[in-house]
Amino acid sequence: MYKKIFKAIKKYDTIVIARHIGVDPDAMASEVGLRDTILNTFPQKKVYAVGAGGNKFAYLGKLDHYEENIQDALLIVLDTPDKKRVDCANIDQFAYKIKIDHHPYVETFCDMEYINDKSSSTCELIMEMIYSTHLQATKEIMEKLFLGLVSDTNRFMFSNSTSNTFGMVSKVLKDYQLDIPKLYSNLYMRPLQEVKLQGYMSQNMKITENGVGYIKITDDVLNSFQVDVASGGNLINNFNYIEEVLVWLAITEDKKNNIIKINIRSRGPIINTIAEKYNGGGHQLASGAKVTTMEEADCLIEDLDYACQKYLESLE
Ligand code: AMP
Repeated sequence: MYKKIFKAIKKYDTIVIARHIGVDPDAMASEVGLRDTILNTFPQKKVYAVGAGGNKFAYLGKLDHYEENIQDALLIVLDTPDKKRVDCANIDQFAYKIKIDHHPYVETFCDMEYINDKSSSTCELIMEMIYSTHLQATKEIMEKLFLGLVSDTNRFMFSNSTSNTFGMVSKVLKDYQLDIPKLYSNLYMRPLQEVKLQGYMSQNMKITENGVGYIKITDDVLNSFQVDVASGGNLINNFNYIEEVLVWLAITEDKKNNIIKINIRSRGPIINTIAEKYNGGGHQLASGAKVTTMEEADCLIEDLDYACQKYLESLE
């Protein structure tokens, strides 16, 4: 499949690379890494990595604006299982569309799709593609891809870190001599205010009967800690391994956009199918959702509690 994708990349002079809305390090690093490796291999091509919100991951590179005739261009969608979450306009007008993703399958919307939901991250897939084709990487490109992979595995803690992941990382570390402590400081440095919010989240986590830990972060709380609306989500992975908690979620009021953003994680029960009922989705053990009222968020908590109950029963 990588060879087929490489052939398509070779064929088109203009290539736009997109990913999902609500950018995260894997989505951003995979699009920037793929753009840079294509440009490094084919300097005469026009290649654009697009989407909103990239500024907060400026250490992964800059995104582009494009004013091309997209009827002649190739679109590569990364890290996005469904069409409605692609952060790019008019995707059906492109000459040809390719999807590369590691989320569980949701729908087909591209001409060629490569999905490997056993892969840790889209960055791992891009690394694999580089090693399986004539795409030429540099140390800087591999640094970015490494950071995306590290972020999506939560520093190799999630079950998506397979022997394949470690094999790929080992190869990259050896071939490109990456400086891990230097790279981690970009990914994990955070303002003191966000750490203080983490304290608030621990103090205010409520736990349901069957082990759903949830924290409601209102607009007033965000303002009192002087943090932005993404902060609760940024901290969600830090609440793993709490004895009393199987599934945990941060419920953040986004007053400006009039929605409530929810980040969900699990140590066992499958959560993405539940998230899908609440305008969300994602991976089996790491999902997100969007609701408009706290009552809906409470219904989600109830559904998750029921999933925990069933999960606990299945272990008996
Ligand atoms: P997050 O909690 O934002 O880190 O997201 C965890 C996973 O869920 C990622 O794979 C996201 O792409 C996915 N996800 C987050 N929000 C949504 C949503 N509203 N709809 C579908 N998938 C989502």
